[in-house]
Amino acid sequence: GSTIGILGGGQLGRMLALAAARLGLRTAIFDPDPNAPAGQVSDSLTTAAYTDSNALKSWVETVDVVTYEFENIPTEALDILESAKPIHPNRKALAVSQDRLTEKAFLSDLGLKTAPFAAIDDMDDMTEALDEIGAPAILKTRRFGYDGKGQARIMAPEDAEQALADMNGAPAIYEGFVNFTHEVSVIAARGTTGEVACFDPGENVHVNGILHTTTVPANLTGKQRTDAVLLAGQILNRLGYVGVMGVELFVTPQGLVVNEIAPRVHNSGHWTQAGCAVDQFEQHIRAVAGWPLGDGARHADVVMTNLIGDDAHTWPELAKEADTQIHLYGKAEAREGRKMGHVNRVIRAK
Ligand code: ATP
Ligand code: MG
Ligand code: MG
Repeated sequence: GSTIGILGGGQLGRMLALAAARLGLRTAIFDPDPNAPAGQVSDSLTTAAYTDSNALKSWVETVDVVTYEFENIPTEALDILESAKPIHPNRKALAVSQDRLTEKAFLSDLGLKTAPFAAIDDMDDMTEALDEIGAPAILKTRRFGYDGKGQARIMAPEDAEQALADMNGAPAIYEGFVNFTHEVSVIAARGTTGEVACFDPGENVHVNGILHTTTVPANLTGKQRTDAVLLAGQILNRLGYVGVMGVELFVTPQGLVVNEIAPRVHNSGHWTQAGCAVDQFEQHIRAVAGWPLGDGARHADVVMTNLIGDDAHTWPELAKEADTQIHLYGKAEAREGRKMGHVNRVIRAK
């Protein structure tokens, strides 16, 4: 059978490896951390830096196709891997989503709504942005931000100078504040033959910048639901994408605004493990392995809750709950803010 190479051995890589195993496929993880959660459940773990070209070259010889669980893969690593084996999702998808400026430009080019944005490299750019976009706004690093890290709220123009100084010279993007009523995301998949399947949009609540819960069904009208799914399909098609993508959306009275896209399985898609016959992890493996996609139909209402830091210690209580599926990622240390696991609670019709 074939072997799927997965760059990154965190919880997403782990759940991808478990899904692959169920389909009779082998997985080879590449991650610098010998204790990577995916290493415990995969066929092999190569422990080396993403900048170690020799390690990358030997590893890629052992796999048939390469995929990944995070978007910040160094370009040099991609050059090495791509010359040896197919990479799904493709380079274009990575390039677009690694940089918030490229991402926003790509989305608006497609005709999709985003927050008003401007590139910020210095105080001159900032002055211009304050003038054109105004406040409130958010200043974000263009690259490497996640869980709300590398972001500063600019409530009034006076906040701008300090916010820029806090970027420590990192290229940044200024985003006008979107007045949304709530946040939803679409987990969408595209196969090698171009077929697209979307899961039902989920409604997301963040606490301290980290996803706390995803609830399906989301609070959306039929039209909003259709819009969400269609725009996700447009993004995948334009990229010639193969695999699963997470598309984060703001719901506003004026329509859906795209916040960001993630070229991988997504935390807000974990509910699919309890709500669908084929979950997002199996869907991604099917796509990159060239299988037909499963359909995304939802058969239950679900609330997914992340177990962050010490939350994970409540598992003995959670294990007593009815209709509750527990996922623990096998991470030794429950550091503050660290994603340790999640639960999917199936809501039964009364
Ligand atoms: P993730 O962990 O999802 O990758 P991230 O660090 O990339 O998060 P964003 O998704 O860009 O950050 O922003 C985090 C949260 O901040 C959003 O989910 C939303 O609640 C809020 N936010 C971000 N941008 C805006 C905006 N332009 N207007 C209003 N709220 C925003
Ligand atoms: Mg993000
Ligand atoms: Mg986000």
